Amino acid sequence: MKIVYEEPVNEKVCLNEDDLGFGRIFADRMLEMDYTPEKGWHDPVISAYHPLSLNPECMVFHYAQEIFEGLKAYRCEDDSINLFRIDRNAKRFFDSAVRMAIPPIPETTFIELIKAYVDKTRAYVPYRFGNSLYIRPFIIATDNGLGVHASKNYRFVVISSPSGAYFKKGLDPVSIYVEDKQIRSAPGLPGFAKCGGNYAVSIKAGEMAKMKGYDQVLWLDGVEHRYIEEVGSMNIFFYIDRKLYTSACTGTVLPGVTRSSIIDICKEKGISVFEEKLSIDELVALLEKGKVMEIFGSGTAAVISPVGKIAYQDKEYIINDFKTGVLSKALFDEITGIQWGRIEDSHGWISRV
Ligand SMILES: *Cc1c(COP(=O)(O)O)cnc(C)c1O
Repeated sequence: MKIVYEEPVNEKVCLNEDDLGFGRIFADRMLEMDYTPEKGWHDPVISAYHPLSLNPECMVFHYAQEIFEGLKAYRCEDDSINLFRIDRNAKRFFDSAVRMAIPPIPETTFIELIKAYVDKTRAYVPYRFGNSLYIRPFIIATDNGLGVHASKNYRFVVISSPSGAYFKKGLDPVSIYVEDKQIRSAPGLPGFAKCGGNYAVSIKAGEMAKMKGYDQVLWLDGVEHRYIEEVGSMNIFFYIDRKLYTSACTGTVLPGVTRSSIIDICKEKGISVFEEKLSIDELVALLEKGKVMEIFGSGTAAVISPVGKIAYQDKEYIINDFKTGVLSKALFDEITGIQWGRIEDSHGWISRV
């Protein structure tokens, strides 16, 4: 695809890598591509970062026809830039689009555009190990009008944010609150899609958990409120009796790239992995017997997020003395090692820009 490059004005790259945070500062470049029924997806442009100008009646503001992705660019010691399993993000973006009645972007086009964008934005990829450029592609419905129907026109936008390591002082266990009333998804709903709507329905439970002193919500299934699904923006793993459990991706759980990498790595290392239903009652029984060695969340932002405490119906359970477990640490080291090009990429997960 032919990409138009509009050279950005006032590009100043002076990152204070001590205090990047997450998604707070943005690279001075963005990519945009429009979809119209006549032309399909056409004429991508990479230009200086700028606000979007949309009418108040623009469909996305009212009916939330929107999807997004999240991936990172990592700077290696030889100054090349790595992307991690971008084919997975491309596939998931495609699937999310189909579910939300958005015309999907072909996976090869998505990969080509993200690579071109990262190449033009490489000055913003941080240098320090642990810091990276978080890339946020998204599509919004852009028809003007309040009638309810699938939009005819869309815009694809890519922005990026130089971001700090999630845990500044190494892995730091979090506490999670099991939500047994509100739900995030249910069979038939787009739980597997990365869309703003899934987050909109989760925010209230997240805020309530925070008020009670917990970092994140653990969601149960939407029908019986029994089976463990995932954490706010992460998949979840349980290391029980030297076996690893995580919920299966049967439509209500987001199929995480980090999740699938953990499963592959553990299987190679001889750890049995079960993608199965685990009920909260079974988990509580195992916690009470002291059988749960580690619990951790997984996602692109944190990679691995150890869980030190879990609360269910006014009872709290401490996991592994509120310390980061051996498996959590080993997986974190292995995955970040591959991402930053410090460990050989035996799976073909890395593409260079
Ligand atoms: C993005 C996301 C994840 C993690 O997926 P990764 O590809 O590993 O970053 C998990 N759950 C939800 C709800 C998400 O949006």
